[in-house]
Amino acid sequence: MTTRTRFAPSPTGYIHVGNARSALFPYLLAKQQKGQFILRIEDTDQARFVEDATDLILDTLTWLGLTWDEGPRVGGSYGPYFQTERKSSYQAWAQKLIDKGLAYADPYTPEEVEAFREQAKQEKRAFLYRDHRPENPPVWDGSMPLRFKVPEIKRYEWHDEVMGDLSAGPEALDDFILIKSDGLPTYNFAHIVDDADMQVTHVIRGLEYIPSMPKYLSLYDALELPWPIFAHLPHILAADGKKKLGKRDGAKSVTEYRDEGILPEAMLNFLASMGWNDGTEQEVFTLQELVEKFSLDRVQRSGARFDEQRLLWLNGQHIRLLSLDDLYQRVTPFWPESARNADEAAKKQVLALVQDRLKTLADLPVLTSYFFEEPAPDWQMITSNKQLAKLENQEVAQLLEAAKAALEASAFDPESLQETLNGLLETTGQKPGILFSLIRLAVSWAPFSPALNDTLAVLGKDTVVRRLSAAIASR
Ligand code: GLU
Repeated sequence: MTTRTRFAPSPTGYIHVGNARSALFPYLLAKQQKGQFILRIEDTDQARFVEDATDLILDTLTWLGLTWDEGPRVGGSYGPYFQTERKSSYQAWAQKLIDKGLAYADPYTPEEVEAFREQAKQEKRAFLYRDHRPENPPVWDGSMPLRFKVPEIKRYEWHDEVMGDLSAGPEALDDFILIKSDGLPTYNFAHIVDDADMQVTHVIRGLEYIPSMPKYLSLYDALELPWPIFAHLPHILAADGKKKLGKRDGAKSVTEYRDEGILPEAMLNFLASMGWNDGTEQEVFTLQELVEKFSLDRVQRSGARFDEQRLLWLNGQHIRLLSLDDLYQRVTPFWPESARNADEAAKKQVLALVQDRLKTLADLPVLTSYFFEEPAPDWQMITSNKQLAKLENQEVAQLLEAAKAALEASAFDPESLQETLNGLLETTGQKPGILFSLIRLAVSWAPFSPALNDTLAVLGKDTVVRRLSAAIASR
């Protein structure tokens, strides 16, 4: 049997990092097993429907590189892939249950249900719909909800690829709505019908669905459907490790990270690492490596903490893995304004210099603007530098003068520059930490920059000498 997995988002808003991991894991499994990854839009909840959310979801997945084999925009033989277009299938499966006497029109008004609830509360027992099955339910004409009649009240035992062997007693079983009075199915009913119609083999989703599993299992049985393989993923916890990460705790959308200069491959690596590892020390994985190494039985059971610093670190690692041409393509929107008119060769030269220092693509302006525009001297940067603050005013002037003279006489390729700089260390008797930091600041006035000799070589002699003179003059 070919592995068929799915991601089934509801179009209720943007995809945040937690949702995205629920797409990544089924994607990885399908690719690894040469199966299909299906995308289905669960749009039956009209009250929570958000216009444009579907497009946002599709664009986010596309940006991440989680391409789906079947679903919106690409089609497939098991569609439609929007639940609102699948009503006839829900009707047909519901009819099967009605015919077997396993579904009934729910005749109660909300007030009546409230009264049942109240009565249960007073009698100190749990309220269950199945205690109130109508003796002679009306014929279901669609104006009332259609409710499932759980056929067998028993204990269910099942296996979860992540959570292990699970079970729940009869108290977890209750009659639930299959089709609402608006004609649309509930998630509880629709996802089972869809997964069956779409021949999904693995249901991979968040932990929050586990309590409902007995109900689902009872419905699979009533519909005479085999159980798929289940895997429920641990929660992603907010940075404090205490509560589940949600939009309310500042879970950002995936596209926000994109705009902040995070690479999709770093995001995927980060998502995979929340709850999964391959059992080795390896931390940086390409998507291809994830596809090869992923396995559900190495997904941890406990919650995974969301650590944005780790995402930034991984992003830096992935930026380093890119070829210069690839990186050049990706940084297009991030160049400082002053670089807009610089030619490609100049920009690539600068980019090669800073590639190892970028944590996000958005770091580009701070790291490079002084290559394209004259920086304004900012002596605060010197006085607030622990080492440099110790220098006397006079010493600063002398050091800058000495540097200017030596650099003026240098051949200005990285090797000769290194020699010139080493010579300067000897003649001035200064430590590299002081001398080089001073020169670096005086030519860039930037908080950090690449190796000094490389930086000077790319800036060129004229610029370096001019900036040193300007620094001296501005004191
Ligand atoms: N539409 C559900 C959600 O967004 C999908 C759950 C599932 O994967 O079955 O949470």
